[in-house]
Amino acid sequence: MNDEVIERELQALPRTVVDDTIAVDDDCSICIGQFEQGEEILILPSCKHIFHATCVNEWLQSHNTCPLCRKNCNHALDSCPQ
Ligand SMILES: [Zn+2]
Ligand SMILES: [Zn+2]
Repeated sequence: MNDEVIERELQALPRTVVDDTIAVDDDCSICIGQFEQGEEILILPSCKHIFHATCVNEWLQSHNTCPLCRKNCNHALDSCPQ
């Protein structure tokens, strides 16, 4: 797996910023920190688990599974070999 593919994969993941309209009661399982308003979070499409964008970015450099449930989160890589 090369870095360019990982980079593209990460950029394709849906990010959002925590604000009043988003009820995020969970903690980030990577850093065990709470989600604060204004922080960028990333939702894994395969399992809908939520993590800090910075935390999950780092994790996905060396893993292709969800840090919480270990579900494979690289759909695009599986279906799109380019
Ligand atoms: Zn975190
Ligand atoms: Zn998960």
